[in-house]
Amino acid sequence: MNLLTKAVRGTQDILPADSYKWKFVQNIMLNEANLYGFKEIRTPVFEHTELFDRGVGDDTDIVQKEMYTFNDKGGRSLTLKPEGTVAAVRAVLEHGLLNDGVPLKLTYITPCYRYEKPQSGRYREFYQFGVETFGAASPEADVEIICLATTLFERLGILDLSLEINSIGCPKCRQEYRSALKKYFEKYRENLCSTCIVRLEKNPMRIVDCKNPDCQKIAADAPSIIDFLCKDCRLHFNDVKNYLNGAGITYKINPKIVRGLDYYTRTVFEFVSSLDSNRNLVCGGGGRYDGLIEEIGGPTTPAVGFGIGIERLILLMQSQGIEIPKPNRCDVFIATADKSAQAKALSLSKILREASFYAEFDIVEKSLKAQLKYANKINAKFLLVLGEKELAEKKAEIKNMDSGEKFVISLDNNFFIEVKNILTN
Ligand SMILES: [Zn+2]
Ligand SMILES: [Zn+2]
Repeated sequence: MNLLTKAVRGTQDILPADSYKWKFVQNIMLNEANLYGFKEIRTPVFEHTELFDRGVGDDTDIVQKEMYTFNDKGGRSLTLKPEGTVAAVRAVLEHGLLNDGVPLKLTYITPCYRYEKPQSGRYREFYQFGVETFGAASPEADVEIICLATTLFERLGILDLSLEINSIGCPKCRQEYRSALKKYFEKYRENLCSTCIVRLEKNPMRIVDCKNPDCQKIAADAPSIIDFLCKDCRLHFNDVKNYLNGAGITYKINPKIVRGLDYYTRTVFEFVSSLDSNRNLVCGGGGRYDGLIEEIGGPTTPAVGFGIGIERLILLMQSQGIEIPKPNRCDVFIATADKSAQAKALSLSKILREASFYAEFDIVEKSLKAQLKYANKINAKFLLVLGEKELAEKKAEIKNMDSGEKFVISLDNNFFIEVKNILTN
């Protein structure tokens, strides 16, 4: 295999034929976040490995199996971001952003890296859109983010997504839940997968969302966290549900959504596509993580967030046949019949481009016939042909490539006004 001309397994190039789709989706995401008051933050691609050990959790699959960790030439252990939240939290603490008052609302689009088995919509380098609200413990903050996600999907034209929510309580109510789970799963110890046997001791909540079919069968009848919520957590969850009802957002309660890490608290949610009946494609999810900032060494600060993997989202849009608007067409292609017209083509293109029109002319010495072919290929709206005759008369013909209509325009000082009239009519 020729490594020089082969991208690394699990990575992909976004080619010009597709990059406009990315731009479209990313613009909608950041614009929508802005409408809710989220400001963009950009953090480095790599961080100290300790940050993810602590912030993602060193007993998670991500930290144990999937991180791109390396020593730099200074001997530091660094890791390519496996997700976006923790780096944002690190930046918030480093720059004291919480001192400017709360709520602090941040959004980002960042590449992330996980050494996973590549499959459809899953890459080792992938892009994540995220929003994070810091300093708001209220159910309103949770629902605000769910609303944002819902409108975002609507704007992208994605139908058939269902919202599933759950509450996983706080460390207080989870203690009792954990022991109830342990008692329950203990009865089925022999039928659990080997990972879950370890989880039984360390963190039985993670058995609930094990992907192993045998474990799933057993987990189907496991006690539900909702029955163990303390009074405050129950009130919070009730408020979330009431606000969602009030906002006209339909949801389903799915007690199987648990996050087996201590710093996740209360509201968790996922958007699930029912189109793909086998896998029930999860298209973004989020929730509250009131314990994370403290875990990373900051002050106790409630927080809630939401993230979407952009690759899977675009895949979903394509599978639903959602049309993404094509980028701007070339406004004018200036063809030149001979070398003497090149200087004029260059200066006229410059005038058009300075006025924000998309203009092109030949830069590879194509024949006139080949230039016309090229103008067709790039789907130019207008074609302007320059030759000795046109330069001498200071007049040229511009042709509407869609209608075939032709106009004569002057090449002197009136050029721009005359062309602009034709282009904008
Ligand atoms: Zn609680
Ligand atoms: Zn299992």
